[in-house]
Amino acid sequence: MLFEDLSLSKSIQRAVFEEGYTNPTPIQEQAIPVILAGQDLIGCAQTGTGKTAAFAIPIIHNLHRIVGSSKKEKLIRTLVVTPTRELAIQIGESFDTYGKYTNLRQLTVFGGVSQIPQVDQLKKGVDILIATPGRLLDLHKQGFIDLNHLHHLVLDEADQMLDMGFINDVKKIIKLTPNNRQTLLFSATMPIAIRELAEMFLTDPETVQV
Ligand code: AMP
Repeated sequence: MLFEDLSLSKSIQRAVFEEGYTNPTPIQEQAIPVILAGQDLIGCAQTGTGKTAAFAIPIIHNLHRIVGSSKKEKLIRTLVVTPTRELAIQIGESFDTYGKYTNLRQLTVFGGVSQIPQVDQLKKGVDILIATPGRLLDLHKQGFIDLNHLHHLVLDEADQMLDMGFINDVKKIIKLTPNNRQTLLFSATMPIAIRELAEMFLTDPETVQV
């Protein structure tokens, strides 16, 4: 399969082509059509399989169509929750890369640094927010984050979030989002607690495994 066969908008195809990608990886080939169709997804995939692009590309495609040409609204449409600052930064860079020919605004927030620049950006408005759990809840508690208009929620490296003790924070975060969201859960392994999380919060998910 080629990227051209995935019916992605020209602006994304161009960005992907410039990265030198010609073929989607197996997780991308399976996950992108499911996400484009608006279905919930459980992705069993490790880092290195191309899983970031597997969710970033279809999310950018969908958001570009929804908000891409409209006036700049101050509504967060996509939230990616990830366990570590390093992963958050990498995911932010991926959204930057694949979305460079769209006018979607994205922001990465994590703890251990001043919240002031993060709050400044939030006040200007972002379409896509990438966050670690603690800082996200902290900023939400202070009233800087509204998740009521979310279209997509991505739980990245769910098993690692469990291992790091973030599972209750993750549940709190999910409960702050609307019920009609699309939920994408990625995890390298599927321990019982993650399967339960998926059962509780995903609707008729498609499972893809690589
Ligand atoms: P990830 O699993 O998301 O950490 O991605 C691993 C690496 O694969 C990243 O450096 C990506 O830039 C690269 N990558 C992702 N998708 C593709 C693709 N379709 N073709 C070639 N490289 C890719």
